[in-house]
Amino acid sequence: MSYTVNAKEQEISAGAEDSVLFTANRPNIVMERGEGMYLWDTAGKTYLDFSGGWAVTSLGHSPSVVQDALKQQSAALIHSSPSFYNKPMLQFAKLLTDITCFDKVFFGSSGAEANEAAIKLARKYGAAKLNGAYEIITLTNSFHGRTLATMSATGKSQWDGLYAPKVPGFRHVPINDLDACFAAINDNTCAIMLELVQGEGGVHIVDQSYLQTLRKACDVYGILLIADEIQTGIGRTGRMFAYEHYGVEPDIMTLGKGIGGGFPLSAMLTKKQFDLFEPGDQGGTYCGQPLAMAVGRAVVQEVINRRLDHHASVQGNYLAGQLHRLSGSLGLSNIRGMGLLAAFDLHAPVGAELAARCLHKGLIINSPSPYVIRLMPALTVTSADIDNMLNILKEAYKELSIAAS
Ligand SMILES: *Cc1c(COP(=O)(O)O)cnc(C)c1O
Repeated sequence: MSYTVNAKEQEISAGAEDSVLFTANRPNIVMERGEGMYLWDTAGKTYLDFSGGWAVTSLGHSPSVVQDALKQQSAALIHSSPSFYNKPMLQFAKLLTDITCFDKVFFGSSGAEANEAAIKLARKYGAAKLNGAYEIITLTNSFHGRTLATMSATGKSQWDGLYAPKVPGFRHVPINDLDACFAAINDNTCAIMLELVQGEGGVHIVDQSYLQTLRKACDVYGILLIADEIQTGIGRTGRMFAYEHYGVEPDIMTLGKGIGGGFPLSAMLTKKQFDLFEPGDQGGTYCGQPLAMAVGRAVVQEVINRRLDHHASVQGNYLAGQLHRLSGSLGLSNIRGMGLLAAFDLHAPVGAELAARCLHKGLIINSPSPYVIRLMPALTVTSADIDNMLNILKEAYKELSIAAS
């Protein structure tokens, strides 16, 4: 069999999607190109992306900073080996410890991998300092990833029976309910792990007093506070990290999504007193991989240079204000969010239908559950982009069966 490339290389044979293992209902669209706030499919149709590649493309699609970092680093070194330091790894780790309250960074490729590292570190800590305590308290309606342990940590009722048996050692308690959390703490607890703004769960915000009290309880019991900032980190909430809004320092923080601007990259950060892994305990072939390190460093430096955290706060306020103006005519309620992680409720369970109609009109939005629409555009979004999005949303809303009511 020969693999010669010819003029037809650009064509995709009919039915090629049958070769992709089914895991999700995907629309009959093939994405081909991206730039800034926009994506283009193979038919040339344009889409305004208010899902931001699922809260990932923090600098917009195919930003030149990421292209340049990839070009330069790929010419120098694509991969050395997990057994050596490399230059961008050291530079990027230093940058992250400089801009956070943490001293140590472990790198991975996906958010779930960073959370696995956090879970392992908490269990290592429990084994070393808390007589083998291994339970981790997490929140109902949370999302922590799709490996077996992170699915077990996740508080999603739809997953309850899936892939049994689950990894033991996770207790789920409702958000902002201190009594429930205190009732769950016992001699076997080693950590509390939570998102400060629940993203996949529909944008639910942890109260300041709740988090501050959890911090104190963790100190009293000697257990770890783990902030999953995979969705909220790197400017998304209007501060560089969501924990900065709370006046609370977690013991462990995980980052993913926006940190790579689209390149697969994640990180787990902790303080020096929790630097507990011994050789062989933790690692991975691509942990600290040079290309990912160079891209992550360029993305984070760009967010800092352009003050995109501040920009996210300003544009998030503009978005919230415009949504409030439309709330009466579109029947929106419970408009909520932090920075550019925003959501609102619909007055009927038509989220999927509304998202599909928007897609048809060239707008990508996300409906995490039937009554909820979530928006998480690139941090570079402008007021004009927000106005464009709302115009399409209004048009799509008019076509809904509920609109007449
Ligand atoms: C997306 C997400 C994850 C999982 O990240 P992956 O890169 O999909 O493994 C974990 N936690 C939160 C809060 C997320 O939003």
